[in-house]
Amino acid sequence: MSHDVKNIMLILSSPSGAGKTTITKKIQQKYQSFKISVSHTTREPRSNEINGIDYNFVSHEEFKRLIDEKQFYEYAKIFDNYYGTLKKTVDDLIKKNDVIFDIDWQGTKQLSQFKNLNLVKIYLLPPNKDELKKRLIKRDSDSLIEVEKRFKSFDEDVTHWQDYDYVLINENLETCYKQIEKIIANHKREFSNFSQIIQ
Ligand code: 5GP
Repeated sequence: MSHDVKNIMLILSSPSGAGKTTITKKIQQKYQSFKISVSHTTREPRSNEINGIDYNFVSHEEFKRLIDEKQFYEYAKIFDNYYGTLKKTVDDLIKKNDVIFDIDWQGTKQLSQFKNLNLVKIYLLPPNKDELKKRLIKRDSDSLIEVEKRFKSFDEDVTHWQDYDYVLINENLETCYKQIEKIIANHKREFSNFSQIIQ
C-alpha cells in the first residue's frame, strides 16, 4: 500500500536578523522534499540576492496588480515595502513537496485562516538584543538606516510569538537546526499516521 504522506507547510518567522534565512536554506539543502516558497517583493535586491531565487523582485505597480487580481495567499507591508506569497507558487509546490515559508507574523496570521493547510509554525528568537544588532550589522547588506528600522521592529515583532506552535531561541545555529529537524520529523510522522488511519 502506498503511503500518502501529507506534505507540510513549515513557516519560519522571526525578528529580522535572527538567522531564519540561513536555517531555511539549510533545511532545503538537506531535505530533497522541502522547497522554499519564493516570495514577491517590492524591495530592492541586496548585492548577494538573485531574482527568482531569493525573491521575485517586482515594481510597486506589478505588486498592486497582483493584489487587485487576488493572486496572493497572503501579503504584508514591512519596512515600507510589500512582500507576498503567490497562490500559484504554493499550489504548484505543495502537490509534490513540503514547503518552507520565510514570512512574517502578518503573513502567518493570514495563512492560518486557511484551515485545510498542514501548517507547522515556528518562531525564532535571537539570544538577546545585543546579539541581534551584531547580526544585523554583520549581514552588511542593508544600509545603517535599514539596520536601525529592523532593530526597532523587534519589540513589536516578538509580541506575536503566541501565534506560533513553537518558539525557539537561535543561540547556536546547529542546536537550533537540530530542534527544527525534530519538529519536522514529528510532524511528518503525525501526518503519515493520520493518512494511514484514513486509508
Ligand atoms: P528582508 O527584507 O529582510 O528580506 O525581509 C523582511 C521580512 O519580510 C522578513 O521578516 C521576512 O520573513 C518577511 N517576508 C519575506 N517574504 C514574505 C512574504 O511573502 N510574506 C510576508 N508576510 N512576509 C515576508
